[in-house]
Amino acid sequence: MPQILDGNRVRDEIKSELNPRVAALSAKGRPPGLAVVLVGHNPASEIYVRNKIKACQDLGIFSESIAPPDSITTEELLATVEQLNARPDIDGILVQLPLPKQVDTKRILLAVAPQKDVDGFHPCNVGNLVAGLPGPRACTPAGIIELLKRYRIPIAGKRAVVVGRSDIVGKPVAMLLLHEHATVTICHSKTPDLAAVCREADILVAAIGRAAMITREFIRPGAVVIDVGTNRVDDRQEAARIFRNSEERLAAFDKRGNVLVGDVNPADVAELASFYTPVPGGVGPLTIAMLMVNTVAAAERRAGLC
Ligand code: NDP
Repeated sequence: MPQILDGNRVRDEIKSELNPRVAALSAKGRPPGLAVVLVGHNPASEIYVRNKIKACQDLGIFSESIAPPDSITTEELLATVEQLNARPDIDGILVQLPLPKQVDTKRILLAVAPQKDVDGFHPCNVGNLVAGLPGPRACTPAGIIELLKRYRIPIAGKRAVVVGRSDIVGKPVAMLLLHEHATVTICHSKTPDLAAVCREADILVAAIGRAAMITREFIRPGAVVIDVGTNRVDDRQEAARIFRNSEERLAAFDKRGNVLVGDVNPADVAELASFYTPVPGGVGPLTIAMLMVNTVAAAERRAGLC
């Protein structure tokens, strides 16, 4: 029987470990502070931001949400970031992506002070990651490693295949797996015979953004499969194909008219993998937990506690 990697359980563990660290910072003067910048009205981003603010509230982390209008210019947003860089009560700054077209995202991410870059997206911190130096790691990739470690899944010496080469998931998770001594292959849309490459994986990470694309011919029996994808499916036929073994998920589809699906076919992975992350409830909860870890660590560094 495959074992489900329960992201909610690991998230709760991480949060309970953060409680005393937040208390120690508060006792030293003030709680950690996170500023979240959400430009305009993107419904998905609004949900992510709400969940991040709620996680802060649960832990006693100070949070401030800044919501400039959709029409903001690059220069105006740069000024907002600069103000946050200068604020003593703010340890972490998160600029929720995507930004509107007229805003130069690279310039904005570059403007966030590296020591307040709790997303780990600043080139300085990308460099720290590559060089294996301390610094905030991108939250989703860090969450994946945390999940593997807490389930005592060996990484060293294993063959890891990452499908997806984005700056926020694919590349950093590949680098973290490499630092853990896996032999890592990164695949993308131009990789020939993707299924054959994936079948070589002891640890397969899917960060693609295509609903249930990873089917049985991509999965080596006994592999550990990490599904990062979050795709909304609103076609009933497709939902029925994907959830052929789950009346429950199909009933949920019928109730809501859409369903959240990962990049991995849930029926195939449940048959073949040794361990796998479900969607929802796998990688997703870890992303916010690691954001909290990065915020607390940034506050500790600024307070001279580490
Ligand atoms: P991007 O769109 O930035 O990157 C997708 C990657 O997948 C690209 O490298 C692309 O290749 C590759 N790809 C696309 N189609 C194929 C294909 N047919 N075969 C092989 N490779 C392919 O996505 P992100 O990395 O930002 O996100 C990936 C998924 O993870 C999304 O579903 C996203 O919603 C989810 N996500 C979930 C998070 C969570 O907390 N659970 C956090 C972040 C993301 P190429 O480079 O050649 O175009």
